[in-house]
Amino acid sequence: MNQQASLIVETSSGEMEHFGMKNFLSLIDNYRQETDLEILTNFDHGPGLEECQAAIEAGYNLVHFDGSHLPYEENVKITKILVEQAHQKGVLVEAEMDRILGESRAHLETPESIQASGSYTDPDRAAAFVAETGCDILAVFIGNLHGVYQQEPRLDLERLRLIAQKVPCFLSLHGGSGLLEDDVKEAIQIGKIVKINVNTELRLAYRTTLENVLRGSDEVAIYKIMPPVIAAVQKVVEEKIQLFRQKQTCLFGHQ
Ligand SMILES: [Zn+2]
Repeated sequence: MNQQASLIVETSSGEMEHFGMKNFLSLIDNYRQETDLEILTNFDHGPGLEECQAAIEAGYNLVHFDGSHLPYEENVKITKILVEQAHQKGVLVEAEMDRILGESRAHLETPESIQASGSYTDPDRAAAFVAETGCDILAVFIGNLHGVYQQEPRLDLERLRLIAQKVPCFLSLHGGSGLLEDDVKEAIQIGKIVKINVNTELRLAYRTTLENVLRGSDEVAIYKIMPPVIAAVQKVVEEKIQLFRQKQTCLFGHQ
């Protein structure tokens, strides 16, 4: 089924090196022309100023500078520089101040044990950060984790509500794999989230299906091997589009 949804498609640094920045952007350009869909490109968790500047120059529509590993002042300084440069080119900047923990894979740890080691986003601090940097989107940590777990990580939706009241920019929700549907729906209804990152569920669908296909076959033509793998990933994407549809914005890349 064709969902006809607007999308954000992104690459991490690793994925960008794998595809090549220009190859990735050309592929999306081609797809835009073929489908007439509104598709934005995002550079996800850009680790530094130079990498994000390269993404802006190459023609990404959004860049996410992840300065959560830096001291607050340093993070503000770099984010602010990027916002000024990006806005001159009509590119949007997503910023991050509180690290979103976990990796894009299946975890054996409990979500609570990882959440406990994180620093949940404080609404007042977030408001000050956004005022100082002028970022367009803030990636918040409200219990959302990268990866999937034996149990769904629960979101601190009351905190999200307070952040949404105080912060003047849009918000993003990383760790969109393996969440409770009701948590996701309520988070969207709060009104400021315009971007939900999904990755791990796509990676798992890809790998599991590919393993199954290869196990029962001696086929060597990739175009014959891949259709069920693509269909499995597409199914997850379509389910997410339907879940997120309240806002017509979703993202497939990291998480
Ligand atoms: Zn992320």
